[in-house]
Amino acid sequence: MVLDVAVVGSGFGGIGAAIRLRQVGVTDVELFERASNLGGTWRDNTYPGCRCDVSSNLYSFSFAPNPAWANSYSYQPDIWRYLHTVADRYDVRRLINFNHEVLDVSFDAGDGLWRLTTSQGQCAARCVILATGGLAEPRPPDIKGLSDFAGPVMHTARWDDAIDLRAKRVGVIGTGASAIQVVPQIAPSVDSLELFQRTPAWILPHFGHAVLERTQRLYAAAPPAQQLVRAWDYWRRELMVLGFVKDPRRMVKAEALAREHLERQVSDPVLRERLTPTYRLGCKRVLISNDFYPSLSRDNVRLVTGPIATVEPTGLRTADGELHELDVVIAATGFFVTDNPMATKVRGAFGEVLADALRGDLANYKGTAFPGFPNLFMLGGPNTALGHSSVIFMLESQLNYVSDAVKVALSSGSLVEPKAHLAAKWTSDVRARLPATVWGTGCASWYLNEHGVNTTLWPDFTFNFRRATRHFDPRDHLVVARPAPRTA
Ligand code: NAP
Repeated sequence: MVLDVAVVGSGFGGIGAAIRLRQVGVTDVELFERASNLGGTWRDNTYPGCRCDVSSNLYSFSFAPNPAWANSYSYQPDIWRYLHTVADRYDVRRLINFNHEVLDVSFDAGDGLWRLTTSQGQCAARCVILATGGLAEPRPPDIKGLSDFAGPVMHTARWDDAIDLRAKRVGVIGTGASAIQVVPQIAPSVDSLELFQRTPAWILPHFGHAVLERTQRLYAAAPPAQQLVRAWDYWRRELMVLGFVKDPRRMVKAEALAREHLERQVSDPVLRERLTPTYRLGCKRVLISNDFYPSLSRDNVRLVTGPIATVEPTGLRTADGELHELDVVIAATGFFVTDNPMATKVRGAFGEVLADALRGDLANYKGTAFPGFPNLFMLGGPNTALGHSSVIFMLESQLNYVSDAVKVALSSGSLVEPKAHLAAKWTSDVRARLPATVWGTGCASWYLNEHGVNTTLWPDFTFNFRRATRHFDPRDHLVVARPAPRTA
């Protein structure tokens, strides 16, 4: 059996792709999902307090507004429920092959088809859309011998409710977006909490609030009202590009706000000093929270800033020689992003590996397509993530281009791939803009690949990406007939 389109993943990207393809008349679509449920990172991140730091009205599909958001910044259960509702409303669920982990995706130049090997067998497809997401593979802490620890170790993205934290001595490693959400939630019930900080984060006040019932009723009765709020939030966030991308010195104002927030919430000057970043705000992901700093002033919470040197069965020993005795270790240490293992499993026409695009060695076109990878498209590809706004906007932009390209490929029985010189130009143009951005001001972050190159974030206004991906232009691509099917 040969599918028209195989989609890998069933998070926002995979579900959005299935819906958009059907809207343009492509119906022979199947999704391959490694888990037994849909939802991607919003299925996997179930740690207490998990919440999106982009407002609910913007962090949703433009074609599927949700008037019933309970909070202006949604918690994980509500976002996961939203994805289920959308999948059911657009009848996507029946297209998903659950428990099918994709192990290999290789182009067969003999017949111009993609061969997918999954944990359940093999299939072939004329087109492939990778929608596996950048925040899919938890990164364990880079500490040798963590398995020597006698107690349980869990990553925030693989939260295990069976591990009872009540009255336990808990160590949390990391102070990124996940850590600052989980720490205030668990601190009141644990015996003690030691928070291992390597680099302090810039934290701004959180303006999230419960959505009033009358607002929900208004959104349901008058959808343009919700669209207006969404548009306001979109444009407000676009203004941030002026600081993030155009002139990072503008971030000084936000730094002052973050410092005030810290001063208001932490009275101990020594603790404050240890929590104050020394890099430009925005260089790492900017965090928002009202309850993280106060949780650090609890009697049972301690901030540890010495680096973790060794792991022992009873705890973590820091470089100053102190053994921090613990019952449970929680790794809030993020994800494999620029080194996402999925990209190592995808091989193009000449045997190149897609991981090279994230390493920066392979050119990409509009963060979505790659020379030598005909009829293959990547959602959330190189330099399409954001530090300031909703990644759903970027996904929908990519889907304009992808759905057009797939339609052309299928209707003409052809293989399409970007022209190499245009992909090289796109990649070098994007790269050239990066050093002047806030992400190039000198800090370590998950945006940078092993060579220190930012292959993650889009360095411009998002409406410029929307414009660039509005259509598939055949003149920018090699469009060649697919080889005749092999006969036995
Ligand atoms: P992250 O931002 O990559 O943070 C990982 C943390 O672990 C960093 O503080 C890092 O320190 C620390 N770390 C790693 N190894 C360590 C070690 N050996 N010792 C001490 N600390 C160590 O990961 P994340 O918090 O899971 O967030 C990842 C991304 O997911 C976010 O930026 C965001 O895009 C998304 N996310 C969003 C939300 C939300 O919407 N609110 C919530 C969760 C996640 P260094 O800084 O020194 O490397």
